[in-house]
Amino acid sequence: MDELAAHYDVVCIGGAMMGSSAAYFLSENPDFDGSVLVVEPDWTYERAQTTRAQNSIREQFTNELNIELSRFGIDFLADFHANVQVNGEAPELNFRGTGYMFIADTEDQYAQLERESDDQLAMGAEVEMLRPHQVAERFPYMDAEQLVGARVGGMREGSFDGWAFFQGLRQRAIHNGVTYVKDRVVGIDVKGSRVTGVRLESGRTVGCDFALNTAGCRAKTIAAMVGIDLPVEPRARTSFVFDCRTPIEHNVPLTVTPVGVHFRREQTHFMCGTVPRIDIAVDYDDLDVRRNEFEEQIWPTVAKYVPQFDQVGVVTSWGGQYDYNTLDHNLIIGAGSQVENFLFANGFSGHGLQQGPAVGRGLSELITYGEFRTIDLSSLDYGRIERNEPIIELAVI
Ligand SMILES: Cc1cc2nc3c(=O)[nH]c(=O)nc-3n(C[C@H](O)[C@H](O)[C@H](O)COP(=O)(O)OP(=O)(O)OC[C@H]3O[C@@H](n4cnc5c(N)ncnc54)[C@H](O)[C@@H]3O)c2cc1C
Repeated sequence: MDELAAHYDVVCIGGAMMGSSAAYFLSENPDFDGSVLVVEPDWTYERAQTTRAQNSIREQFTNELNIELSRFGIDFLADFHANVQVNGEAPELNFRGTGYMFIADTEDQYAQLERESDDQLAMGAEVEMLRPHQVAERFPYMDAEQLVGARVGGMREGSFDGWAFFQGLRQRAIHNGVTYVKDRVVGIDVKGSRVTGVRLESGRTVGCDFALNTAGCRAKTIAAMVGIDLPVEPRARTSFVFDCRTPIEHNVPLTVTPVGVHFRREQTHFMCGTVPRIDIAVDYDDLDVRRNEFEEQIWPTVAKYVPQFDQVGVVTSWGGQYDYNTLDHNLIIGAGSQVENFLFANGFSGHGLQQGPAVGRGLSELITYGEFRTIDLSSLDYGRIERNEPIIELAVI
């Protein structure tokens, strides 16, 4: 069994994207000289959301904070090699800039996308409203008669290798001195209003100054260990990859339809998904593929906008889960509960990979300086849950 110290300044409960990003940014921060332990039971990460994601990043959010969070993600990806290299080596990210395209089927939807684009443009995002003839010019494979318009983003938006992204952070954190232990947190000790340590499945107890809830879909079970009710639940999301008999030579942005079906190019194939018709909490272990979603929801929709998608075949599919924040579909970060040194990084509802770097940096600032220094994320703390004050994001995929 790995040797552990009796006490760490910070313990991350879960070592996928959020745990590793927090560990990375703490260990990169010259003002932080503490110790970090990441507890993770599954070093294959086979069941983590991080491994089951669709690996895309965008500027087109409707909430300013979400735009800022992803903007930092984009910058971080651009310098990825330098940011995470160990002895000159870093995983290959293979970023592909394609943009996102949000489709409007009605004038009301078009007007809504246009209103949102005003805020996005004001924040420096590259977005453009297109009418059908412009969609047809730029994306000739689309049947532009099916829509009244669309909003498209620039090439800073796109897709990347999510596994490489997360492994780069993890490897660099380990290189910087962070300890990863293969174990599971089964209990948390609290004295007064403070966490004093975590109890592990192996029987060990480790003291800590800060405990970070980075347990993804199981975040609610970790919060319950300190008596906090966290409104984050696992929601099933199936991913499908299909091939198209007739190749499409043009750029295919990550295209989001008004009914929630989305698709993008994945190498020589296409990746897609949708929101289940009945979108409710599922069991933590439920990673079943919902095959009917492709036949009943996805295929009819993609074939409507892209006639070539009339003839497609599913190549592969896999089940996944969103850590869905039922209050407002937005992340919960930092403190704000009655347990002052228990920090959250939860409820990402499908956009946590791109927000990972900004979240890790934010947590590192909060722990080191007692405040957020770059992006002020304090409005996204747990306090808003207790006050029942949602922070609205309309562009949830
Ligand atoms: C289908 C799908 C598509 C997605 N597409 C995108 C996308 O295109 N862009 C984007 O930005 N995001 C996307 N996401 C969201 C993104 O994957 C997640 O927001 C992100 O990976 C969350 O990372 P995490 O570390 O919080 O959670 P996870 O990756 O789920 O990791 C949590 C970890 O905690 C560990 N753990 C659980 N319980 C314990 C315990 N008791 N003790 C210790 N460890 C524990 C688990 O083993 C796990 O490794 C997608 C998600 C899904 C499911």
